[in-house]
Amino acid sequence: ATPTALMVGTARAAKMGILIKNGEALEEANGLQTIVFDKTGTITNGKPIVTDLIGDPQQVLPIAGSLEENSEHPLAHAIMTKVKESQIKFPSAQNFKDLRGKGVQALVNGQPAFIGNAKLVTDCQLSAELQKQMIALQDEAKTVVLVGIADLVIGLIAIQDTPKPTSAEAIAKLKARGLKTVMLTGDNRNVAQAIADQVGIDQVIAEVLPGEKAEQIKKIQQSTSGKVAFIGDGVNDAPALSTADIGIAMGSGTDIAIESGEIVLVQNDLREVVCALDISRKTFNRIK
Ligand code: ADP
Ligand code: MG
Repeated sequence: ATPTALMVGTARAAKMGILIKNGEALEEANGLQTIVFDKTGTITNGKPIVTDLIGDPQQVLPIAGSLEENSEHPLAHAIMTKVKESQIKFPSAQNFKDLRGKGVQALVNGQPAFIGNAKLVTDCQLSAELQKQMIALQDEAKTVVLVGIADLVIGLIAIQDTPKPTSAEAIAKLKARGLKTVMLTGDNRNVAQAIADQVGIDQVIAEVLPGEKAEQIKKIQQSTSGKVAFIGDGVNDAPALSTADIGIAMGSGTDIAIESGEIVLVQNDLREVVCALDISRKTFNRIK
C-alpha cells in the first residue's frame, strides 16, 4: 500500500470513531478470516445486574457483601448494588483472596467463605436441588455464582448482562462478509451459548481461565490460513490482543487492553469493526 492510501484509510476510519494505531493493522484486516470476541463488555453491555437470589437473603447477602466489597470484578459491582439496596449490614472480611477466573474467598466472621462459579466446589458441596436451579438460570443466559460458608453452598445469585443492541447486527454483517465468528469467555458454557445464540455467533469457547485466552488465540491461528482478529476490553484480554494478528480494543476497556490493541473502537460499538473492514477492503483493493 502507498503511504497516502494508508493515510486516507486511517483518516476515514478516524472520522467514524475508529482509532487505527498503525497502518499494518488496516492492511491485515483485508486478509481477515476469523473474528474472536470476548463476551463481557465486548458483545454485552458489561453492566450486569442481579436478577435472582436463591436461598435466605438474610444469610446470603451479608456473606456476599463481605466478600465482594473487596473485588473490582463487574459481577462484584452488580452484587454490591444488590447488597446495598437490601440495606443488610455485613462484617468486613479478612484474608481476602482473588481466585482468578473462578471467584473470591476470605474469612467472614472467622469462617472461610467463598463466592464464585462451580469450579470452586465439588458435587457434594452443592445439593442436587441447587444444581438444578443453577442450570435453569444459566439456560436463561444468566451468570450464576455460588455463595458458600465453610464447605457448604448456602445460596445462588444470578446476574444478567444483556447484549449491546448493535451486537447482533454487527455480527450478521461480518458473517455476510464471509468471516467466521467465535466467542472466547471465562463464563460458564451454558450462559456463553445462550448469549451467542442471541447475537448469532458461530462458535463458543467457554470456561477459559484468564491466563489461557492467548493460548486459545494461538490454537485458532494454527487451525486457519487466514488472519485472526481478537476484540476485547478487560485486563485478562491484553495477552490475547497482542497475540492475535489484529488486536481490537473497546474504547471503554481497561488501559492495558487499549494499549495492547492496534485498533480502538472509540464508540464501543461492534458495527465499527464492519466499518474498519470495509475501509480496509476499499483501501487495499483500490491501490492493487
Ligand atoms: P470474562 O471472560 O467473562 O470477563 P472472568 O475470567 O473475569 O470472565 O471471570 C470468569 C468467572 O469467574 C465469572 O463468570 C465468575 O463465575 C467467576 N468470578 C470471577 N470474579 C468473581 C467475583 N468477584 N465474584 C464472583 N464470581 C467471580
Ligand atoms: Mg470483557
